[in-house]
Amino acid sequence: MRRDERGVTPQSEDFSAWYNELVFKAELVDRGPVRGTMVIRPYGYRMWELLQADIDRRIKETGHVNAYFPLLIPESYLQREAEHVEGFAPELAVVTHAGGKELEEPLIIRPTSETVIGEMMAKWISSHRDLPMLLNQWANVVRWELRPRMFLRTTEFLWQEGHTAHVDEVDAMRETLLALDLYARVAREVAAMPVVDGEKTASERFPGAVRTYTVEGMMRDGRALQSGTSHFLGSNFARAFNIQYTDENGEREYCQTTSWGMSARMIGGVIMTHGDDKGLVLPPLLAPYQVVIVPIGRGDQADQVLPPARELAERLTRAGIRTHVDTRTQLSPGFKFNDWELRGVPIRLELGPRDLAEGSALMSMRLGDGKAPVSLDSAPARLAFELTAFQDLLLRRATEFRDSHTATVNSWAEFTEAVKTGWARAFHCGLAECEEEIKAATTATPRVIPTDGAPEEGLCVRCNLPSAYGKRLIFGRSY
Ligand SMILES: [Zn+2]
Repeated sequence: MRRDERGVTPQSEDFSAWYNELVFKAELVDRGPVRGTMVIRPYGYRMWELLQADIDRRIKETGHVNAYFPLLIPESYLQREAEHVEGFAPELAVVTHAGGKELEEPLIIRPTSETVIGEMMAKWISSHRDLPMLLNQWANVVRWELRPRMFLRTTEFLWQEGHTAHVDEVDAMRETLLALDLYARVAREVAAMPVVDGEKTASERFPGAVRTYTVEGMMRDGRALQSGTSHFLGSNFARAFNIQYTDENGEREYCQTTSWGMSARMIGGVIMTHGDDKGLVLPPLLAPYQVVIVPIGRGDQADQVLPPARELAERLTRAGIRTHVDTRTQLSPGFKFNDWELRGVPIRLELGPRDLAEGSALMSMRLGDGKAPVSLDSAPARLAFELTAFQDLLLRRATEFRDSHTATVNSWAEFTEAVKTGWARAFHCGLAECEEEIKAATTATPRVIPTDGAPEEGLCVRCNLPSAYGKRLIFGRSY
């Protein structure tokens, strides 16, 4: 294969083409037979597994337990919460026939599981001693997608959904914010995505929620990606599904519930936060291979270099570094270098006869030019250090990018300019019609009311009415 068959359209030329080519060429995904569906290939799935393992650990450390609920939900369940069914109706896939005949009641393929879990909570909770109930499930869900995009919008996707029930609003809100914080930490500490956390405006709320919180990341085209959401549901679902408990005085009370989710969309976030013209740039904590060793030499030389390359890989693996030896003998080193660059491997090691004689290997980092010799003896410690430094570098670089593409604006002219290339921090009146006008004029929407935004008063950037939030909102175009 020639270089031009392997490379991708440069990100700087056409971001969208770059993304759409890269997910296939890096062998992350393939198209499913049904439009809008996605096959996750082993290289992409490994990234998801690494992310999933980290989220799962944090979920369990904060006292939640995993369970599993059915894929099929009776249609009547969704209809019990009016806003919920209205919000999801356009995206539902409905099973009307099964077992060779028409079903008496159609079944919904879950778009999310509040309803079926609510039904079970009503059965399992009777006393205040049963609370809080802290559940999580790892599952696939289906939301029919008319404009599919790999990882970002697919008809079926993988995620976790947390569902909890509490005695009162205070405890449920504490939980909602705990999940939000968990997502912010996962994004920053694992995916190296400097997300902004905070609340959504009313029009961006989850159908059936009282309050919705989000973590928003900035992609390298300046667009926002909603990367995880946490919802305070109040007693809306508790009333619809009769989730009640008996309090200490023997009174029956409705529970306050929450739900929260993070999905494989995060992989798309990682690609678009860190990738460059050459391809993927993976944070070491999510890289299927953190180090790839490319043995150099043909024929006899290859036979000489391969055993030490394997031995080095074993030592690195024992040190907890995910290492791969590229043994494809029919391909040139140049091709292999480009290939691993495209696939975002943080560190590449070249090992040739001359390096071997000197007891070293040549190291190249995925970002930055030049190669540096690394002594084979100290390689495990040195590479562990370099991987940590690379992870930190990605977060720092993405933070600088986000900050340099975020403008604090006070006029409509400044606003429209800012959202062309990034985010605008602006005052807003809080009216849904005004949000709609802004969206129609610029395609930008309010992404988040930042948790750590400084208290500030001013006039709406669009209509000049007083601001409704006591601080600036972040607006941007989004995925
Ligand atoms: Zn306004």
